[in-house]
Amino acid sequence: DLTINKIAAGEVVEGPYSIVKELVENAIDAGSSSITVEIKEGGKKYIRVTDNGIGIPEDDVEKAFLRHATSKIEKIKDLNSIQSLGFRGEALASIAAVAQVEMITKTQEQQYGVTIELNGGRLIGKKPIGCPTGTTIIVNNLFFNTPARLKFMKTTQGETSRITEIITRLALSKPNVAFRYVNNNNVMFTTLGDGNLSATILSVLQDVWLKSMINIDDEMNNLKIEGFIGQPSLYRGNRNYEIVFINGRYVKSKIISQAIELAYKEKLPINKYPICVLNLTIDPSYVDVNVHPMKTEVKFNDESDINNSIQKIISRGLSTRIT
Ligand code: ADP
Ligand code: MG
Repeated sequence: DLTINKIAAGEVVEGPYSIVKELVENAIDAGSSSITVEIKEGGKKYIRVTDNGIGIPEDDVEKAFLRHATSKIEKIKDLNSIQSLGFRGEALASIAAVAQVEMITKTQEQQYGVTIELNGGRLIGKKPIGCPTGTTIIVNNLFFNTPARLKFMKTTQGETSRITEIITRLALSKPNVAFRYVNNNNVMFTTLGDGNLSATILSVLQDVWLKSMINIDDEMNNLKIEGFIGQPSLYRGNRNYEIVFINGRYVKSKIISQAIELAYKEKLPINKYPICVLNLTIDPSYVDVNVHPMKTEVKFNDESDINNSIQKIISRGLSTRIT
């Protein structure tokens, strides 16, 4: 029902950045090795995400825009072992409810692709089209049919920086995917997608990460940490560049931040924060990553154990490189 979708959109579609997040996560889930994100006017007028993933079979194209349509979960018990980023089957329905959406998609098996157009969730056209394997989704005129929400969007610059932040995280979390981010026809960054995290960091954080990085590849008490930390001289005035992923998902966690910062203690000026990009691998049974689409919080079974292990691993990394 279109009204329900419009209401649900309030949860999933906070603004242009949440659309970018959902569409890129879908592209990642589709096994893409190359993803292009293009925005205009902070995504308020135009968002396009193109991938070279598996595409959607012609018969499923309309279904993908139905609420709770997901191809990614078989049974509810799967919730504990979710590997894909999406699974609620809400994003496309919600996005389509509050914008004008066009999708072009083709699977490997099909000779022709299909293009479908929706306006405020209403199907207005569907026809065959010649196109490469993969999916392109274009989202025009976000909130055109919900004037109250239209007013609540930030300035173009404000929305653009939120989108940049989201794409930066996603690109850092998937160094094996080649990202291309274009804003108003200007290429903001591209990554090679060759799996090299340090090269990916340099591509997306070029203005921030100027000095040499310390490689972390260490393990302790069921916790594995891989990634890079900045020299203590590379501090920032906020935590924006303490970038942490748990089992491939971006998280924000006081426990983790404090553990990392304790390892840097005395090496950093007061009220300054380190820069890092770290992938934590933890047995899913020790951690509860909030599965709400827009939440990034995380809970641990044993907080002090995690705190301890992180602190030790980071300290070890810092001390092997700093004399
Ligand atoms: P979810 O990701 O939670 O399954 P979505 O509403 O985001 O739900 O997407 C609905 C379905 O549409 C997905 O389960 C998937 O089958 C299909 N889909 C969406 N985007 C893509 C894409 N870029 N490539 C292939 N399939 C996609
Ligand atoms: Mg999804």
